[in-house]
Order: sequence, then C-alpha cells, then structure tokens
Amino acid sequence: MLTCQHSVKLFSYVKEDALDIRKQTKKIKLGNLYIGGDAPITIQSMTNTNTADAASTIEQIKQLEQIGCEIIRLAVPDLAAAEALRTILPQVSIPTIADIHFDYKLALASIANGIDGLRLNPGNIGETWKIKEVIKAAQDKNIPIRIGVNGGSLSQQIIKKYGFGEDAIVESAMEHVRILEDNNFDNIKISVKSSNLDLMIKCYQNLSNRVDYPLHLGVTEAGTFTRGTVKSAMGIGMLLYHGIGDTIRVSLTTSPLEEVRVGREILLALGLKSGMEIISCPTCGRTKIDLISLAEAVEKRLVTFREHSITVAVMGCIVNGPGEAREADYGIAGGTNEGLIFKKGEIIKKVPETQLVEELYQMIASDFLNE
Ligand code: SF4
Repeated sequence: MLTCQHSVKLFSYVKEDALDIRKQTKKIKLGNLYIGGDAPITIQSMTNTNTADAASTIEQIKQLEQIGCEIIRLAVPDLAAAEALRTILPQVSIPTIADIHFDYKLALASIANGIDGLRLNPGNIGETWKIKEVIKAAQDKNIPIRIGVNGGSLSQQIIKKYGFGEDAIVESAMEHVRILEDNNFDNIKISVKSSNLDLMIKCYQNLSNRVDYPLHLGVTEAGTFTRGTVKSAMGIGMLLYHGIGDTIRVSLTTSPLEEVRVGREILLALGLKSGMEIISCPTCGRTKIDLISLAEAVEKRLVTFREHSITVAVMGCIVNGPGEAREADYGIAGGTNEGLIFKKGEIIKKVPETQLVEELYQMIASDFLNE
C-alpha cells in the first residue's frame, strides 16, 4: 500500500490524570450545573443578538445548545433587555448569565426575572447600599457572581497605582472579590482576561495562587476566526494543561457558534472532555473529491453524536484513506463520484458520492441503536 504523506495519528482519549493535576477550586452551582471542584470544565458563549429581541435571542441560544454550549451569557444593557429575560429564560434549557455594567437595577431585574448567574463587578456599581441590595438578591436565590476584569478596562485608580500589567489586573479583581467577601458573599467565579497571551497566562496563574474560587478562562478581543482560535487555544489550552480553569469562553469576532465549536475542540484535544472527534486528511494531488465540503457536511450531519466517544475519519482518496485511518471507529473516503464507507479500517461498502454522508450517519445510528 502507498503511504500517505500525511498519515493520521489518533489521540482519542480522556486524560486520566486530568483531575489529579487540576486545581480543586470551590464548587459553585449555576442553574442546573456545577462549576469548579471536580465538576467537568464547561463551555460557554455569549449571544450577539439584541437581548430585547426575545425571538432572535431564543433562536440563537437553541442553536448554541444544539452544538454543545453549556452556559450562555446575555448582555443586559437596559430594562427592555431585562424584561425580555422573562420570555427568553423559560424557552432555554442551559444556565443563563446576565452581563451587567454599572446599573444595579438591571442586576435586580435580571434576578427577579429568573437569571441563573450575574457577570458584574461590584466596584463599578456605585454606592454601598446598591451593592448590598444586589448581593442580598443574589444570596436569596443562590446566584453566583462572576467578577470579570479585562486588561483594557482598568480604573484610573488602579492604573495609577499598578500601571497596566499583571499586578493591576489581578489587584483589580481582588478589590472586587474583597467587596463581595466583606458582605459575606463567596458564591464567586473570576476571570482576568487580556488580549496579550503572556499577560493573560500570568494573570490567571497569579490569581490561581491567591484564591480558590473557580476561574473562567478566556482571551479577550482575541480577533477574527483564525487568529482568535489560535490565541484562545494557546492561552486557554496552556492554563488548562497545567490544571487551571473551570469554565471557558472562546471570544471570536464571528458567530458564537464558532466559539462553542472551538471551545469544544480545545477540551477534546486536551483530553478534558470525551466526545466525537472528526479527523480529516489535509488532501493532496490524489484527492478526487471536494473534501472540505464533505468534512463540513459530516460534521453537521453527525452533530447529534457529539457526546459519544467515537472517532470519524473523512479521507480524500480510496487508495490510502481506509488504511491510514484504520484506528478511526468509522470513516469515509472519497473517490471519483463515489466513495467508501469503512469501520476500523475495514471497507463496509461503496456508495455514490451524494449518499456518502447519509449512509455514514445511518451506519453509526444503527450501531448505537443495536448497542
Ligand atoms: Fe492521504 Fe488524503 Fe492524499 Fe489520500 S488524499 S493520500 S488520504 S492526503
């Protein structure tokens, strides 16, 4: 058999010592799931619809849920958005977080309307009585608050004292933490994001040494799809690999659906999540099929199997494809107007190109049914 220049190596495993190296943070409850401690690392995203437009927001959250988003944050910039939560929340099944800036009334309205969590920096709320009201409302409903400090949004006071670096970001987060703790509130998670990877990593490492609260990881303003994916995978990935982080959000200047896909791939690649992996060859002069479209079609069609630990290979030629991907559980290899379907390297059948994806889906579905 010819040897493919880009032979496929499979790394489909769940890292067994993941929990050993992972820092055991305080476990908090958000809606129907837990964050921190031994809880699985969760993937979150943020809607980019106008929250006041309940129909569009519900539609987007449902799409995100379908591809594996586990927590969703919504901007609540005004009372119309807070009011829309009453329509939105009963329609969605993943925990929701209201993103609040400055206005305590919006936090109170979001809590009253059923939100599961808040993202709010108490130091930005104003008078102490306003902070106390928000804390009391959150305590009454056991709602966690995420403190989120970004390198680009530090107060003048902090900048004057610490400049723009790691100390400024971490100290700013700690100031907000102290406000909550002074009010006997410890249902907290924290993020210290930066668009500079070196700074982001150092801030999280520093914070992780200082507090036991769960950490929400992210690279802020990471950029458009390619750049943002690389930066997020590196920043979030390096921290997770060293045991830091309890929930992640990939920020991309594109659809939030991509954020969830990338987040999921980061966890799968690190062995911190089990689930379906689709591998595909890079194509070469032997490719006789539009493999890019084929791989995308497979990804879309098999989305319902995403929580199953299977590996599916999408290969560009029938000469090398099945052999090179023999370690995959299932696979297809494209030829001229037709393709092969194989299982563990063994060819099962030859089908017309147009039926490849559907036949693959049916075969996997029937195997699961028989199981
Ligand atoms: Fe390898 Fe893909 Fe080229 Fe076939 S088409 S030889 S599987 S790279």
